[in-house]
Amino acid sequence: MSRLIATRAIRGAHKLVARAEKELKQEIEEKGPQTKVEFPNTGYYLPISYGILGLKIETIGGLNELLEEAKKLLPPIPDEKLWLPFLGHTLDAGMATLFADEIIEAIKYTQDPLPYLSEPNPRDEHLWLGAANDVILRERGIEFVDGTAPGFAVCVGYCPTNEIAVKIARELQEKNLYVFMAAATEGKSMAQQLQEEGIQMGWETRLVPYGDDVTACIHSLGFSTRVALSFGGAQPGDYRKILHYNKNRVFAFILALGPVDDEKHAQAAGAINYGFPTIADTDIDQILPTGICTYEHVVSPVSHDKIVSKAIEVRGLKITITKVPIPVPFGPAFQGERIRKEDMCVEMAGQTKPGFEYLTTKKLDEVEDGKIEVIGPEIDEIEEGSKIPLAIWIEVAGREMQPDFEPILERQIHDFINCTNGVFHMGQRDINWVRISKEAKQKGFKFKHFGSILHAKLHGEYGKIFDKVQIKIFTQEKDILDLIGTARKVYKKRDERLADMTDESTDTYYSCTLCQSFAPNHVCIITPERSGLCGAYNWLDGKAAYNINPTGPNQPVKKGKVIDAVKGQWQDVNEFIYNNSHKTLEIFNAYSIIEHPMTSCGCFECICCVLPSTNGVMIVFRDYIGMTPVGMKFSTLAGMVGGGAQTPGFIGHSKQYIGSAKFISANGGAKRIVWMDRALKEEMEPVIRKIGNQEGIENFFDMIADDTNAVTEEEVLEYITKKNHLALSLPALF
Ligand code: SF4
Repeated sequence: MSRLIATRAIRGAHKLVARAEKELKQEIEEKGPQTKVEFPNTGYYLPISYGILGLKIETIGGLNELLEEAKKLLPPIPDEKLWLPFLGHTLDAGMATLFADEIIEAIKYTQDPLPYLSEPNPRDEHLWLGAANDVILRERGIEFVDGTAPGFAVCVGYCPTNEIAVKIARELQEKNLYVFMAAATEGKSMAQQLQEEGIQMGWETRLVPYGDDVTACIHSLGFSTRVALSFGGAQPGDYRKILHYNKNRVFAFILALGPVDDEKHAQAAGAINYGFPTIADTDIDQILPTGICTYEHVVSPVSHDKIVSKAIEVRGLKITITKVPIPVPFGPAFQGERIRKEDMCVEMAGQTKPGFEYLTTKKLDEVEDGKIEVIGPEIDEIEEGSKIPLAIWIEVAGREMQPDFEPILERQIHDFINCTNGVFHMGQRDINWVRISKEAKQKGFKFKHFGSILHAKLHGEYGKIFDKVQIKIFTQEKDILDLIGTARKVYKKRDERLADMTDESTDTYYSCTLCQSFAPNHVCIITPERSGLCGAYNWLDGKAAYNINPTGPNQPVKKGKVIDAVKGQWQDVNEFIYNNSHKTLEIFNAYSIIEHPMTSCGCFECICCVLPSTNGVMIVFRDYIGMTPVGMKFSTLAGMVGGGAQTPGFIGHSKQYIGSAKFISANGGAKRIVWMDRALKEEMEPVIRKIGNQEGIENFFDMIADDTNAVTEEEVLEYITKKNHLALSLPALF
């Protein structure tokens, strides 16, 4: 910590304590020690001395005791040559400052006329409100407890222009923060700037002008002390509890605007005791190590366009957006909504156009919270009925964010967008598919609203682990093709993290019921060797998701007693499935396609099904639009397999599962694959060749038929017979 900032804060405390002493002496001489002193209509006496020291000061003479406490705390001003650990001294000086502030402000209440207006809102001729009464405390303080108002910003000084003052005030209001204004500098204050601009101030608009004196800052901390006493169960004199309560529950900070003199440094030191950091727009010394505050204590210089977001970040404040700001209804009730072709205004990505969804972590200074860009045509620039590409690229930043959380947050895109009335979303990663209805467009829904939804909902549900999020919506093919490779590399890396883990190496799997909005009885059981059938969640993701949200859709599932090791059936897994499928499924086999296979929702990357005459199975990827050997296109097959029912002979699964040693292992495993669509087969070539090597089958890749050489089951049989495919010599499938 810098000696300079400590010196300035300690020097400021000395000045304020000396001022308090002088004014108190004068007041006692003029009015007598028995003169009553109080803040208006409060049962909390003078709240700092009552809360921190347990003092019930009711007379001017009683302020002497507080003055003595302030003097006791005052540390010596640091010596030019002597280097000491300064933080403890600075904190003491800060507390002495608060005591001195309270003495000076209390004396003001003995003056006639009162310098403050004791009403909730200022008048044109009377700007300053001073200490809030207990009615305001009860009405407003509860908002700090129930989260309606996460905290407050104490704006000290003034902005270079009125326009900047208004912008900062509005930005703080948008985040539901109270704006407490105090301490004019050179006769100028932010509250006066807002007044000049005709901005409505007062407790009702959360823009509260406390006073132009630097000591009026105390009304902010007096308010938060009373919140701790009133709502936090703290007892008067239990300063530890009051300070901890404020650090942990009241997300406040100081914005130091304009020049910062010694007295203002001293206020900052006082606020640090409460865990409230200071962010300055001028180049003052910083206190960067964490300790008393959650993160840094003093940060500077920060530009005016970044000062609010920086303060939110440094204070560790989590933003919640209560209403999703879009022009159509939003809520879980719309999650199962389908958009029929004739009602559709636009289809995005899906089987015919490229698309993907990707979430990545960036540094804090690389993300501007709430920034949404549409790169490419907006909805009103395209023809009704069009099919266009779509990529959703999300960048998040936060001190608690970890790359392991990326897939979990990314997978929420499906759930969040589906809550929108008139929008249908299916799939994930590079198999996303979206439809927007004509009605939603008529109501004003635009592509940029994908960003609004994701910004609001990600903050709302995952704000604990990140601080900022910005979203890019791409609607031009070229951009999407340029970026898709980056996303695919990351998907691959995520999938590879589990390479060495087996199902036997753990006694706990993870469930996923995220897709119950579409398929109410569906439960994915995610094991190390079988990822969720959408391909977006593997066992590690399930584990991380449970850690983020222990009551969410990913729960640990103990395996319990093994019922059948070959089919992959465990007693406790069966019980879990029963309880979480609305008691519709009693038995689940993880490794069988024939007997009690896993259910499918609709998000599967692939469908695998038995081709009876070949004694094998075929696999089709969801992008394949042609006919398959089972006599159905993917869309028809998906309708039959999806919905959350067990369909013997059919399973939905991820691409990754094809390379797993547990791929339908109860039925002979990957050796049974006799047909794949060509694109999938080519993509999976290294995996298929590896399977061939492991099984000792030469040219396994060439033995598998595909749509270039076989489209009907008969043609597949003919092809594999020619190739002498191993499936033909395996035991009968059923
Ligand atoms: S397919 Fe399974 S793992 Fe993927 S989101 Fe749906 S329920 Fe979860």
